Amino acid sequence: MTLLPAGWTDDAAVLATHRLDRSGFDPGGRPRAVAFAESVDDVAEVLRAANADGIPVVVRGAGTGLSGGAVATEGSVVLDLSRMDRILELSAADELAVVEAGVVTARLDRAAGMHGLRYAPDPASAAISTIGGNIATNAGGLRCAKYGVTRDSVLGLDIILADGRRISTGRRTVKGVAGYDLTGLFVGSEGTLGVIVGATLRLRPDPVRTATLSAFFADFAAAAAAAAAITAARLQPAVAELLDTACLDAIDAADGSALRSRGAAFLLVQTDGWGADAEMEAVRGVVGPHATVLDVTTDPAEAETLLATRRSALPALERRGRVLIEDVAVPRSRLAEAVAAIEEIAERSGTRIATMAHAGDGNLHPILVLDRGHEIDEHVWATAGEVFTTALRLGGTLTGEHGVGLLKRRWLADELGPDVVALQHDLKAVLDPRSILNPGKKL
Ligand SMILES: Cc1cc2nc3c(=O)[nH]c(=O)nc-3n(C[C@H](O)[C@H](O)[C@H](O)COP(=O)(O)OP(=O)(O)OC[C@H]3O[C@@H](n4cnc5c(N)ncnc54)[C@H](O)[C@@H]3O)c2cc1C
Repeated sequence: MTLLPAGWTDDAAVLATHRLDRSGFDPGGRPRAVAFAESVDDVAEVLRAANADGIPVVVRGAGTGLSGGAVATEGSVVLDLSRMDRILELSAADELAVVEAGVVTARLDRAAGMHGLRYAPDPASAAISTIGGNIATNAGGLRCAKYGVTRDSVLGLDIILADGRRISTGRRTVKGVAGYDLTGLFVGSEGTLGVIVGATLRLRPDPVRTATLSAFFADFAAAAAAAAAITAARLQPAVAELLDTACLDAIDAADGSALRSRGAAFLLVQTDGWGADAEMEAVRGVVGPHATVLDVTTDPAEAETLLATRRSALPALERRGRVLIEDVAVPRSRLAEAVAAIEEIAERSGTRIATMAHAGDGNLHPILVLDRGHEIDEHVWATAGEVFTTALRLGGTLTGEHGVGLLKRRWLADELGPDVVALQHDLKAVLDPRSILNPGKKL
């Protein structure tokens, strides 16, 4: 491969930092180079050269992905977009932003805040992940119970195709149906269909007020029942997050807090907007009968502390051993059943499984906590496979927000069926006929 942009390197230390993502999965591939793109032209140049020579390209934002999507494969070029980090436009009048792909998610949210707006999708990794990575994984976040996942905030995309052509999809308007929805096709495509270099994103009003409830329960089943009661009461909080006993223990050990002394499971609910207090009163009414401890605050600083506690769960579990982070979703009415089935799988397989859930949208993260140094062997995959099968049996999905990446490919046909899998391969072949874009991932 002859053409790489100015910022490319094959320095061993840089290759090492760009080889893996945060899934902890290491299939042993060694990239040949890392190319740091600083412009759209740099991206096009890399793709044209790679396509001509049939060299795999692994696009990388911040490498915080949890499914192996950004893991470098043997002989690949890692295309790092983190230097393309300009916010090109922020239109308060049209409530939208135009950004480069490498912008860090929380930075856009802060910039929108200067105009009384916000970028709603807030993965717990928002402080470190990039918009391009969020779009490529269709990331969810704590606020997506009310505001939807990343897809619901993407109006249009700028993309470099495998052969170096630049296309723009979508539009600046809130509505629009001209042509097929190519924007939707690229959202969640995990770097396998094209490289997202820019995005036009919808912003939302920053809520005038929030009310935040924290409640503890005798067990996880009671907490799940409380979450179900919120949905049944036709309430729609912005945030509804659940943590089980193992998560609370891990946070206490990491932070020196005493959450576990207050109960065996934790539910965090936030309402927002003009009706935040009224909606919170209704939430309190339906959660109260299930809870042993319940507090409500309207103080933004206290609310942020509670949200930070929720976000700290994964790093706290990572300190307890080697983790395999799972990500299934079920219809919300089946959440309690899913939790009970996961507890049963943990007991039967002798595996420590800590579970946190975005209860507002039925997305569960059962985290398999292994001893440090433990291989993710077939026994571990068999246990994870049981979790996936359970989600599918309950009418759910293998992955709510982390993507298929490398880790879930073998179960994909169980969810999609052979015809849909074949059609997806056909689509990939149209856009990337030489299969240079993240080959061996997603499908
Ligand atoms: C502590 C922690 C908390 C997390 N919490 C959440 C959460 O709440 N919700 C959630 O959904 N995820 C969460 N994640 C997972 C991760 O942060 C998200 O998947 C995020 O969207 C990845 O962004 P990234 O920039 O790190 O992408 P990367 O990890 O670099 O890449 C992810 C995938 O996107 C592709 N990609 C990246 N950039 C582009 C681009 N510009 N064009 C095309 N393809 C591209 C890559 O090839 C790869 O397949 C969490 C991770 C951590 C470590």
